[in-house]
Amino acid sequence: MRPHTQRPFLSAGIQMLSVQPDTKPKGCAGCNRKIKDRYLLKALDKYWHEDCLKCACCDCRLGEVGSTLYTKANLILCRRDYLRLFGVTGNCAACSKLIPAFEMVMRAKDNVYHLDCFACQLCNQRFCVGDKFFLKNNMILCQTDYEEGLMKEGYAPQVR
Ligand SMILES: [Zn+2]
Ligand SMILES: [Zn+2]
Ligand SMILES: [Zn+2]
Ligand SMILES: [Zn+2]
Repeated sequence: MRPHTQRPFLSAGIQMLSVQPDTKPKGCAGCNRKIKDRYLLKALDKYWHEDCLKCACCDCRLGEVGSTLYTKANLILCRRDYLRLFGVTGNCAACSKLIPAFEMVMRAKDNVYHLDCFACQLCNQRFCVGDKFFLKNNMILCQTDYEEGLMKEGYAPQVR
């Protein structure tokens, strides 16, 4: 049996194979037509036209050098879209659950928060745009609670 001549791996999970002239053309998993090109892509145990293996979101060709194939929920995605849809932003600093990348978040310094979690962690007051909030020991505080905390610790300027 003749070994496949193949170009090196383009990216994880995608192989480019040269089509042997004496073999039956393979069907493309993307468009279901026969692949009569000189090269075909093999990914996910299926064969594809070079043009048919595309990201379901942005249509970029995944056979291009440097791109990586990601699959999830029957979608074939490029790395960027995969991370955008299924990656995570980080852990919410308030409830410490993961925040998926597509969710809106509030950021304060290096912390990220669910929108719902972004509230004063002492009195649960939500903040509106323009409201002041304070970060203390990694807790979000409203101005009132922040100042009260300072008073208790005796950092506030003493009023005589
Ligand atoms: Zn095709
Ligand atoms: Zn994409
Ligand atoms: Zn949260
Ligand atoms: Zn508060």
